[in-house]
Amino acid sequence: MSMRKLVNWVALTLLIGIGASAKGAADGYSAARARMVQLIEQDVRETSLYLDKSRLDMRVMEALAEVPRHRFVPVDSRDQAYENRPLPIGHGQTISQPYIVAIMTDLIAPQQDHRALEIGTGSGYQAAILSRLVKQVFSMEIVEPLGEQARERLKDLGYHNIEVDIADGYHGWEKHAPFDIIIVTAAASHIPPPLIKQLKPGGKMIIPVGSRFMTQQLLLVDKAPDEAITVRQILPVRFVPLTGEH
Ligand code: SAH
Repeated sequence: MSMRKLVNWVALTLLIGIGASAKGAADGYSAARARMVQLIEQDVRETSLYLDKSRLDMRVMEALAEVPRHRFVPVDSRDQAYENRPLPIGHGQTISQPYIVAIMTDLIAPQQDHRALEIGTGSGYQAAILSRLVKQVFSMEIVEPLGEQARERLKDLGYHNIEVDIADGYHGWEKHAPFDIIIVTAAASHIPPPLIKQLKPGGKMIIPVGSRFMTQQLLLVDKAPDEAITVRQILPVRFVPLTGEH
């Protein structure tokens, strides 16, 4: 190898090295995220009887491995951001457990051309995960400061296909209906009829339903092309309540 070739080769190797490390550890949390993904995979295997599958859609797992959850939790709990559990985000609300975000996202089978509605923006994390898998996410939050903060955070992080509205999500978002998928991240006493109405025929909704003081059941609602509704009970969960005057 000539000297010149050798210099070029060394330069190229260095470049590839720098490129790889920048991608792998861009924010210093990628190893923690990878561990979180492993914990989710393990939980999925352990609950496969409920889920009717032993692994989730690879695209969902990739989104979880990439979205910086530490940016969605209060600064003083960043070191816990990749533990597989919910965390307080202020105003008595929580960011959901990563495993729950994973299964809810998987069960509604998001597709690239989908328009999705989320009720309960909270930190914006679930919206961020979903936004990587669909065309557009419309997310509604009833607690104004949380909604404002999430909107700002999502903009700062470069998620351009998420729109946040501050309103009672029980009534859905008529202006943008119908939706291919609806994901409700607060516990309701029943499935809100306006949401059933705003779900496209052929669409899916996932929603925790039950008493606000006990565990709820995560329900997967299917609206057939002929608009017939079927409901499948997935597993017991615990969410903060869906509030509002409805
Ligand atoms: N998806 C969120 C976590 C949701 S916690 C995340 O990824 O961080 C549930 C959220 O639902 C809370 O922020 C709560 O304020 C909100 N919420 C409760 N009732 C609501 C309603 N009627 N309409 C819209 N949001 C509601």
